Amino acid sequence: MIYPIVTFGNEALRRQATPVSGVDAAVRQLVRDMLESMYAAKGLGLAAEQIGRTECVCVIDVPLEVEKEECREANAAIPMPLALINPEIVAREGKQRNEEGCLSFPEISAPITRANRVTVTYLDLDGERRTATACGLLARAIQHEVDHLNGVLLVDAMSPMQRLAVSGQLKRLQKRNAGGA
Ligand SMILES: [Zn+2]
Repeated sequence: MIYPIVTFGNEALRRQATPVSGVDAAVRQLVRDMLESMYAAKGLGLAAEQIGRTECVCVIDVPLEVEKEECREANAAIPMPLALINPEIVAREGKQRNEEGCLSFPEISAPITRANRVTVTYLDLDGERRTATACGLLARAIQHEVDHLNGVLLVDAMSPMQRLAVSGQLKRLQKRNAGGA
């Protein structure tokens, strides 16, 4: 099932996700629905909050061919699409600065500084605890989606100047949500 994606101004995006107590059929169905919704919206990642859910689950699909050259070998060990259940980033290394967008902020993007390499632990679809180390765009996507699960949004990662530059668009999004969407 394809869910509509909620946008900035919807209070669901500010919630702290609730850890999943066990990976059961309902969680696996949620992951399937989130992947379907993400692909339909042409995104690289999606957190449960973005479809109005509260489970601590996000999905990511960064194709190797769009990845930075120097990260392809390291990231090839991580199968796509990736479902992260109860993820936690346990190590961050280096810095990268690149344009970043978000399905909940349509038509808004800004250069954002993130760690270049992260190690994340999570439960997979079989409920097994796994650890993966990702680099480049995949590392950026993991940081972005884990932020979502903590109620932290693209706008929070922007500088005051960047926020000012898109303040009109942000106000329009907020107004649209206040209008009973
Ligand atoms: Zn996002």
